[in-house]
Amino acid sequence: MKLIHCLGLILILACLSFACTPNPYKSINKQHKKKVEAATQNILEIPKAGEEGDTTNVTDLWVGTTNFSIRRPNFVIIHHTAQDSLEQTIRTFTLPRTQVSSHYVVSKDGTIVQMLNDYLRSWHAGRGKWGHDTDLNSSSIGIELDNNGSEPFTTAQIESLLSLLKRLKNDYNIPTANFIGHADIAPARKVDPSAHFPWQKLAEEGYGLWYDTHMVTEIGIPDKNGQYISKEIMLEPVPSHFNPKEALRIIGYDVSDYTSAIRAFKIHFIQKNLDSDLDDNDLRILHNLYRKYL
Ligand SMILES: [Zn+2]
Repeated sequence: MKLIHCLGLILILACLSFACTPNPYKSINKQHKKKVEAATQNILEIPKAGEEGDTTNVTDLWVGTTNFSIRRPNFVIIHHTAQDSLEQTIRTFTLPRTQVSSHYVVSKDGTIVQMLNDYLRSWHAGRGKWGHDTDLNSSSIGIELDNNGSEPFTTAQIESLLSLLKRLKNDYNIPTANFIGHADIAPARKVDPSAHFPWQKLAEEGYGLWYDTHMVTEIGIPDKNGQYISKEIMLEPVPSHFNPKEALRIIGYDVSDYTSAIRAFKIHFIQKNLDSDLDDNDLRILHNLYRKYL
C-alpha cells in the first residue's frame, strides 16, 4: 500500500514538473506575434496620397476594391544550414542580431519546424538574382536543411522535404523550374545546398529541372597506362554556335561573375570537379538543359 502511495506521489510530481516546464520559445513567439500584428497594421492602412515629396498624380480619392487576395510565393529556395544541429539553427534564426531566418527547417530525422507563415517575407535569400528577379526574399519560400555542408543529406530528411515540396507546389502552383538552391541565386556568395544534395531525385519528383538522363551513356576511356576508365557522357552533341554564358543566363544564373556562375551550375547539375571550367561533357549537359528553360 505504502509503495503504491509512493509511486503515485512520484507520478504526480513528474506530471507537475512536466506541466511547469516553461516553453523555451514562449517569449520569442510573443515577439513574433507582435511583429506580425505590426505588419498587418501596414496592410490595414489606407495609403495616403499627396503627402510631402509625393510627385505622382495619385488623387486623395481612395476607392477600395474587394477583388484581391494575398500575394503568393512563386519560388522555393533550398539551403543547407552549415550548422551542427536543429537547435543551433533555431537559435540563430531567433536572435534579432543575425537578421536571418527561413520559413522551414528540416532536421536530419525528418522533423520539420515551421518558423514563419508562408505569406511572410523571410530573410533567407539575401542579395541575389535569378533571371530578372532581384528580390527573391519577396517571391520565395526558404527551406533550410540541417546539414554542416560537407555531409550527405539523410534519407528521412529528403523524404520529409519531398512531402513539404508537394504541399507547397500544390498550394501555390509553383512552376517546376522554380525549385532552386541558394547557390543558384547567389553564385558569388553561396555554395548551398552542397553537391551532396540530390537535385536529380527532386527533379524526378517534379521539383526543379534536370537534363535528359536517357541521353547519357557510360563509355570506357583508355588512360596513359592503357587501362580503361569508365565515364558517363551525354550523347547529344553541342552545336558550334553554342554560347555557354548565354545558356547559363537563360537558365537564370547571374553571369556577371562568370566563374562563380559556372561553379554554381556545377554544384547543382554536375556535382563533381567543382573548381574546374566546363569540360566537353559539362557543355553537352548545359546545352541539353538550357533548352528546357527556353
Ligand atoms: Zn543559404
